[in-house]
Amino acid sequence: MSSNIEEITLVTGAERHGNASAQIDWILTDSRSLCFPEETLFFALKTKRNDGHKYIDDLYTRGVRNFVVSTLPENIARYADANFLLVADPLKALQKLAARRREQFDVPVIGITGSNGKTVVKEWLYQLLSPERIITRSPRSYNSQIGVPLSVWLMNEHTELGIFEAGISEMGEMESLTPIIRPTIGVLTNIGWAHQENFSSLQDKCMEKVQLFKDCDVIIYNGDNELISSCIAKSLFTAREIAWSMKDSERPLFIEKIQKDDTGTTIKYRYLGFFKEYRIPFIDDASIENSLNCLAVALYLMVSPELIAERMARLEPIAMRLEVKEGKNGCVLINDSYNSDFASLDIALDFMARRSEDKHRKRTLILSDILESGQTSKLLYRQVADLVHSRGVNRIIGVGKEISESASRFEIEKSFFRSTSELLESGILNGLRNEVVLIKGARAFHFDTITDLLELKVHETILEINLNALVDNLNHYRNKLKRQDTKMVCMVKASAYGAGSFEVAKTLEDQRVDYLAVAVADEGADLRKAGIQSSIIIMNPEVTAFHTMFDYKLEPEVYSFHLLEELIKAAEREGVTNFPIHVKIDTGMHRLGFAPEDMSRLVERLHRQSAVIPRSVFSHLAGSDDARFDAFTRRQIETFEAAAAELQAGFNHKILRHICNTAGIERYPGAQFDMVRLGIGLYGVDPFTNKMLHNVTTLKTTILQIRDVPAEETVGYSRKGILNRDSRIAAIPIGYADGLNRHLGNGHAYCLVNGQKAPYVGNICMDVCMIDVTDIDCKEGDKVIIFGDDLPVTVLSDILETIPYEVLTSVSNRVKRIYYQD
Ligand SMILES: *Cc1c(COP(=O)(O)O)cnc(C)c1O
Repeated sequence: MSSNIEEITLVTGAERHGNASAQIDWILTDSRSLCFPEETLFFALKTKRNDGHKYIDDLYTRGVRNFVVSTLPENIARYADANFLLVADPLKALQKLAARRREQFDVPVIGITGSNGKTVVKEWLYQLLSPERIITRSPRSYNSQIGVPLSVWLMNEHTELGIFEAGISEMGEMESLTPIIRPTIGVLTNIGWAHQENFSSLQDKCMEKVQLFKDCDVIIYNGDNELISSCIAKSLFTAREIAWSMKDSERPLFIEKIQKDDTGTTIKYRYLGFFKEYRIPFIDDASIENSLNCLAVALYLMVSPELIAERMARLEPIAMRLEVKEGKNGCVLINDSYNSDFASLDIALDFMARRSEDKHRKRTLILSDILESGQTSKLLYRQVADLVHSRGVNRIIGVGKEISESASRFEIEKSFFRSTSELLESGILNGLRNEVVLIKGARAFHFDTITDLLELKVHETILEINLNALVDNLNHYRNKLKRQDTKMVCMVKASAYGAGSFEVAKTLEDQRVDYLAVAVADEGADLRKAGIQSSIIIMNPEVTAFHTMFDYKLEPEVYSFHLLEELIKAAEREGVTNFPIHVKIDTGMHRLGFAPEDMSRLVERLHRQSAVIPRSVFSHLAGSDDARFDAFTRRQIETFEAAAAELQAGFNHKILRHICNTAGIERYPGAQFDMVRLGIGLYGVDPFTNKMLHNVTTLKTTILQIRDVPAEETVGYSRKGILNRDSRIAAIPIGYADGLNRHLGNGHAYCLVNGQKAPYVGNICMDVCMIDVTDIDCKEGDKVIIFGDDLPVTVLSDILETIPYEVLTSVSNRVKRIYYQD
């Protein structure tokens, strides 16, 4: 659904500069996601870290002609055929525009908020309600100040029901989301500790969330939750309430009985005097609660209990992940098992297009029919084809009747199949070589069979890396910076603390961090070859690798006169001038660095050459994570400041100063200077408390075999695993060669099997080890967590009397890394 530029000017209250006519279909807030320039309106948003105005010129060159800005470009005459809508705050303008779109629809809209479960409830409601209704919903978990307007903008003339989620992280944010969503049906999933930093209490956060329901006809929530009930009562809304309860039979929706068995849960309820039941194929409490919220909505929308039961039984887990996996024959697989709709296809194609290291590889899309879009299939697939062409896909493999009928619209290499099994039988998947393959299908098409076939299976032990958590941690520390313009170096040395340097670097680059740092030149060169363009510091530059550094623009740390002389010599030989270097000063760590007294000699030496130029000056704290060393740390900082001042005095250009590592950022905010260096915090460990932030890495494996072993027997090498009872022993395919420290064996530590602790029995072997599952309900093939969300890596490092850094970096290369983002 498009809007013309006059109308948008009016709605946003903008001052318009330029008078070209324009119809707007697409809204863009991230310049990298540009797809259809002519019909796009770009909002130049200013965030803490970035300013959209910087991208106007580039976007103009790529064909965009419509911009919402808070300052006009200086050389506006250069953009004669463009429209600039000048507003005080482009984000507010975006929100107003979305609110206006919402106003045009008199359809029921479900607004979902809460700490967890929003996306699952949204998707399940979609599964429960969609066949009869054309639904517009938030793509993935677009629920922020920017995500909500972008979601609501998707409403169009076909929309019969809207489902949108709203997430907030600060007071006052719901006030701006409420008029955009304007829900008629409000759902509060639950209130927990997520995003608590900016709220003084849970109560505050809850009160803020319920503001979404101001003008609802009905509010749905867990009536047994006292906090939620009291917040809703205090808000004095006049809406009808469906507060479901397991305790209070007076409530309109009373949950009489919840019965779990091996394969699912049966739930009996009473609504308006009727006794009914349904069943879901899940047994965890979160799923049960999510289903109850969905039940209440469906009942309110007068879906019959029989239909509800039928569809509840078929609910599917929500795989929110966009996974990157290694495929067979050199392929990279991007697996997006999220629902296949147009908006999420756009996001997935954008994700594929941005993997710049794969630029030279062929890009193949395997796509099923897009179901229930409400559009005619002719129009829909014309749009899909446009999208596919403009996102640089080289080949499409379509699966399904409808997409096959639109085959002629795709002007690239193509093949089409009526069904998934027809595709599998065709054998063409075996011919994929060195391609990037995006796999995206509606549930009914069971594309997991395709992923199974294409996936490279080497070893059943994997390290999963949650890229969203990484970004959350980055932002956690960014928020601790006292000044917005303080720069940040992210440490990706040692394969990003074991997480894998490319994907991590790519994610950080997307977040526009100022610098990446690796240990040696080869690590940096690998990142460059893979397409990373950010500035990179080499912490341990080898004299033999200067050439590589010049070639790939990798900026060395320089810590001694000897190294400096070698570097200057090499640079002069290659005709390199003004190459940036980072001067390290030893202020008490006594590892590497110039002595503070060396500064005048260093300045003098640097003046006598033009091969290199100091870009930054830094030092490293020896004990910033320990209060016992506070006096020492302060002395280090003072020494550093004086030495850095001496170096700076010798030069006219600004030399960046930095000394804080993760613990320093938090504990010595006064020492953040011009830049900080974030390491372990990025990977989820707070080095001061040894507590977890957002967990990034999960090491997991699966049970290979289970056997009953009588009490008098022993388990493993040297008969170390002595049993004191008849036991059930499981073997799992992970050993010390994978990085599972041998000292964890013999009952010193445990792993998790189905959420329960299973101690290691006997010596850990090279490739396998044994665990005691006598008290755990489990079977061969079940997942085993070595460390992760519920078993923090710090538990293992404590047992080993080491630091989490060591455990994280010990996971060996043969353990496959799998990356995902929500
Ligand atoms: C590894 C490293 C860091 C990061 O330290 P964390 O404790 O992981 O934050 C910072 N500076 C230097 C010089 C490092 O080598």
